[in-house]
Amino acid sequence: MTNLSRIPSVDRLLRHANASQLIDQFGRGMVTDTIREVLEQLRQRGMANGRLPEIEEILTTVNTILESSASDTLIPVINATGVILHTNLGRALLCTDALEAVERVSRSYSTLEYDLEKGERGSRSEHAAALLCQLTGAEDAFVVNNNAGAVLLCLSALASRRRVVISRPQLVEIGGGFRIPDVMKQSGARLVEVGTTNRVHIEDYAAAIQDGAALVMRAHSSNFRLVGFTSQPTLQEIIELSHRFGLPVLDDLGSGALLDTEKYGLAHEPMVQESIRAGADLVCFSGDKLLGGPQAGIILGKRELIKKIRRHPLARALRIDKMSLAALTATLRHYLKGDVEAVIPVWRMIAASPDRLKQRADAWRSAIGSGEVIEENSTVGGGSLPEETLPTYVLALEMRHVTEFAANLRRARPPLLCRVQSGRALFDPRTVLDEEDQKLIDILKINLSRSKS
Ligand SMILES: *Cc1c(COP(=O)(O)O)cnc(C)c1O
Repeated sequence: MTNLSRIPSVDRLLRHANASQLIDQFGRGMVTDTIREVLEQLRQRGMANGRLPEIEEILTTVNTILESSASDTLIPVINATGVILHTNLGRALLCTDALEAVERVSRSYSTLEYDLEKGERGSRSEHAAALLCQLTGAEDAFVVNNNAGAVLLCLSALASRRRVVISRPQLVEIGGGFRIPDVMKQSGARLVEVGTTNRVHIEDYAAAIQDGAALVMRAHSSNFRLVGFTSQPTLQEIIELSHRFGLPVLDDLGSGALLDTEKYGLAHEPMVQESIRAGADLVCFSGDKLLGGPQAGIILGKRELIKKIRRHPLARALRIDKMSLAALTATLRHYLKGDVEAVIPVWRMIAASPDRLKQRADAWRSAIGSGEVIEENSTVGGGSLPEETLPTYVLALEMRHVTEFAANLRRARPPLLCRVQSGRALFDPRTVLDEEDQKLIDILKINLSRSKS
């Protein structure tokens, strides 16, 4: 039995030479609390077994505890999964100009809500509105925190306690529990479903509208595809019908591309400009999906409707923060300039040539001296372009304990995430930044030698 009276005091530990570095690093309060915790455990364990650790050992334990509790959980990872817009990994990466804009407006005071001409209060959403209108042909724009918020705000401002007509195949659930019917309920709007799961006709809309409604909504079924015996009226037809009855149309595009995805061998993702041109009264989409910017919900549309939306109390609750706004305007400027494909990470990844991807996968293979480079497919993800893939080349490592190997890669710093498929770990260069190549190679080398030994 340990003699409990021989357990050193908190003070003695704090005065020890090894403690001063811990105090510098973590602060006296944290170190004192952790020492108490460790001594208490010793006291409890001491009842049962013998040896009392040296002071240095106790302080090493204290250090380990402090280090693990002080380490961040939100950290960069290397994404070798080949999923470009990976919601769990933070969706779109920002371009350099966006990052610099974030830093500029965060380091100093800014004109966030200040009109320099008038010397009085201005509106924060203004900073992006003119750019958005110029790019899309919309009359006006308003920007909020994310697209789920944008949909909620539009419905709350225009259709609370009134009927909103939407077709059954569009009552979708996006990842993370965002369900169109639930958002409608939350906004106070009354859902009027038209058509059947697979077929909807314009007459179905007409019948529902004749019974009275405030708004007609279309939601892009971003993450699934309806095939077989199906039909839906075009946005154009829905808009023409709604306008005949004096009803506005809200088009939730989800991802909403400003560039044509067909140019890159993908299916056509509905474009924001197309919805505006077709006459949609409100169009909303995400900032961090195919736009390639920060998390944001962008609402475009008719001046009168945007005015109502801007004045709704929820607009304040859902407001965008200055860092996102700065990143968004910097991102949008590249669309005006026309260098998106070269500068915005999402589009650079989409546009990456298979030759270049093969070169990189080959280089990884020769650097680690094992594995095989094979043809595979990357995906866009982020609830856009379901089932659409981009041909790529991946480094494939075949091994017995592949799940365990992948788990070890997640423990690396930075963590390395891959795709595990039929007993192989696949590494897709499309979503790995050039400057991450060396780290990826180092992590693979260390873990491969470990799994052999
Ligand atoms: C992704 C998506 C949303 C939610 O957008 P967030 O920016 O993630 O809030 C809403 N509607 C559709 C159709 C979507 O695809």
